[in-house]
Amino acid sequence: PESITVADLANRMAERSMDVIKYLMKQGQMVRMDDVLEADDAELIVEDFGHTVKRVSESDVETGFIASDDPEESKVKRAPVVAIMGHVDHGKTSLLDALRSTDVVSGEAGGITQHIGAYQVQLKSGDKITFLDTPGHAAFSAMRSRGAEATDIVILVVAADDSVKPQTIEAIKFAKAAGTPIIVAVNKIDKHEADPQKVITDLLQHDIVVEAMSGDVQSVNISAKKRTGLDDLTDAILLQAELQDLKANPDRDAEGVVIESKIDKGRGSVATVLVRRGTLKRGDLLVAGGQWGRVRALTNERGQTLAEAGPSVPVEVLGLDGAPDPGEVFAVVENEGRAREIAMYRQRKTRSAGGGQNVGLGTSLEQMMA
Ligand code: GDP
Ligand code: MG
Repeated sequence: PESITVADLANRMAERSMDVIKYLMKQGQMVRMDDVLEADDAELIVEDFGHTVKRVSESDVETGFIASDDPEESKVKRAPVVAIMGHVDHGKTSLLDALRSTDVVSGEAGGITQHIGAYQVQLKSGDKITFLDTPGHAAFSAMRSRGAEATDIVILVVAADDSVKPQTIEAIKFAKAAGTPIIVAVNKIDKHEADPQKVITDLLQHDIVVEAMSGDVQSVNISAKKRTGLDDLTDAILLQAELQDLKANPDRDAEGVVIESKIDKGRGSVATVLVRRGTLKRGDLLVAGGQWGRVRALTNERGQTLAEAGPSVPVEVLGLDGAPDPGEVFAVVENEGRAREIAMYRQRKTRSAGGGQNVGLGTSLEQMMA
């Protein structure tokens, strides 16, 4: 079960469905027994009914569903999902461009040519890393409140000639609030004015203690422009990923998060999603935010058509009936009735909350940090 209906929730609390429906009515929400509730809302209801909440795992909280965690033996290693953050002009876009060159598959299978909001590289070692290709705080802001939930590791880019700046601090707060480990990339070390030591010292004031200062945050000197230090950076990412023991069950219906979306004149709704667990297949019925549809085509960052996409794989999806917001969760559901129901519930919730995004009874990270 990747979501919970009013009836199921009532059942699990050993309360009557009517009482839950009445309770929601008092809150101004009209629901039926088989309407689907999101985890945050369900949690509040459970608490108000005087019960305690036990969410099964962190990842369930992150994806916004109440669902049983996958059995440990079903899980296999997955690629880390990495976001690049930092102050404007410190080199985020340059680094994202440079990191494409670490991909060894590009030769024969074609390079990473499409901008779909995320891309995955395969390193010489065979290890894979997924980078969120949404550089800059403007592009990232829509996803910011939920984006870190899709992110395993934050690369904090700090220009060695400029050191710590307001958006550096903002990124640190964001990563810390989300509990996402940071790797510091001290960039522009090719410049004469570069002072990497100052960066390290300045970061201390924001509780980022790098290994050279006997802390546990990895720091790597790089030049995105000259493409130096990139192997050290990918090594650091893989080491951090190893520590986190990142795993997911590929053999289940897919769940994940929306990275980007748009309505394309020719192709209709085009959404880039990142699979968190399970395997997304062509033909699957998908609900993404308040949108739903049958997956008509899956395309990767190389413009290749895929039959399926497993955990940590970013993929462009055709077939939804609209453009879901970045940061919304998606899930494969069993039938159209269910898909329509969940999508309608979410649309209703968004409308009743004033039409904004990332609203509802749950407090977004962004609101918590404001
Ligand atoms: P963003 O705003 O963080 O995405 O930064 P950009 O990637 O757009 O880079 C801002 C400027 O810094 C551009 O003019 C880049 O060419 C330059 N830049 C980025 N990385 C380096 C680097 O490693 N060395 C030098 N010298 N310049 C860099
Ligand atoms: Mg940029």
